[in-house]
Amino acid sequence: MSANKLVQAGVDLSDFPILQTKTHGKRLVYLDSAATAQKPLPVLDAVRHYYEEENANPHRGNYELSVLATERYEEARALTRAFINAKEDAEIIFTRNTTESLNLIAYSYGMHFIQEGDEIVLSIAEHHSNLIPWQQVAKARGATLKYLYLDKNGRITEEEINEKITEKTRLVAIVHVSNVLGTVNPVKEIVNKAHNVGAVAVVDLAQSIPHFPVDVQDIDADFAVFSGHKMLSPMGIGVLYGKRELLEKMPPFLFGGDMIEYVYEQEATFAPLPAKFEAGTQNVGGAVGLAAAIRYIQKVGYDRIREIDSKLVHYAFSRLRELDYITIYGDGGAGNRCGVISFNIRDAHPHDVASILDADGVAIRAGHHCAQPLLRYLGINATCRASFYFYNTPEDVDTFVESVKKVRGVLG
Ligand code: PLP
Repeated sequence: MSANKLVQAGVDLSDFPILQTKTHGKRLVYLDSAATAQKPLPVLDAVRHYYEEENANPHRGNYELSVLATERYEEARALTRAFINAKEDAEIIFTRNTTESLNLIAYSYGMHFIQEGDEIVLSIAEHHSNLIPWQQVAKARGATLKYLYLDKNGRITEEEINEKITEKTRLVAIVHVSNVLGTVNPVKEIVNKAHNVGAVAVVDLAQSIPHFPVDVQDIDADFAVFSGHKMLSPMGIGVLYGKRELLEKMPPFLFGGDMIEYVYEQEATFAPLPAKFEAGTQNVGGAVGLAAAIRYIQKVGYDRIREIDSKLVHYAFSRLRELDYITIYGDGGAGNRCGVISFNIRDAHPHDVASILDADGVAIRAGHHCAQPLLRYLGINATCRASFYFYNTPEDVDTFVESVKKVRGVLG
């Protein structure tokens, strides 16, 4: 398989300057996009342009520059709304990242609307950021956490959904794509089941939205969250989508400037959505970067992104499968893996594997991937994780696999 076959027209790798750099004197092979994606020049240029020519504190000044900054920020909101097909801009709240979005839901919704005896249902594959906030809510409110476990292929079955989501369930929080296994969960069915029992559904899009389009109205999520940095934008900008009727009845999460209407000595009234949930000076540069990232994804096109991602995963999967001392976790085949392959090498600790690969310029992740309950459920402490994005090439896969082949020799 040649690189040119996979790198389709429209993906210009020179847009990603960091991929032309070296690490330990070797060409960088970046296989950790599930942790954070690299940033293309149009995103970097948009942020630079904003700071060079448009930077001011938005929503505050009556002067031209502040009005311009406000326009850029609100344009980013409108673009994000269209990107995930929310009904209205006011349903898009900018946060720092997925974690902050989930904490906002847990504190503003969970701490106020979950009652003693209620059940909160999560999958065992949740990232800690969609798990620990719900542990806090359950403890504070006297609720119970229940988990959807996976079958031997890493999937959540219909029986499991029907058994765990019951009349007692008040909230279901589910990851769309597992950051460890790459499994795509049947979120539409899970949300539907949650609604049938009168529960609200939170969907973590952190690992799905970089790879395929998500329509929040189609999946009917009550809340959906993601981080810009995993989909080409700068770090420090995240998104919380919430249905208006829920956001309206929730109290603010953070208090201070920009989120108020009138302030008196002893009390205050709060601004309408979305400002009610955006206290303090916002990350306008980040929002501008997010808008540029959305435009970049739209320019490349999700069809092409999916095609490249999927070819890379299939290719890497088939090459790793040739090595009989490697265990690959999750689904039996390459098919249900979105951008991620988690594996272990017999008798080699994942941290050692990652260090050996690093010396060859190959950046992978090793550890529990912020999903300790999942790893415990799988009976392991850690895995190596290679994650792919559309700027990777078959040569990257070849370099990665050749380096993997060295590991057992190096460790003796
Ligand atoms: N959810 C999933 C599935 C993730 O993979 C991650 C990050 O790896 C997060 C949540 C947390 O994202 P962030 O650290 O950007 O808040």
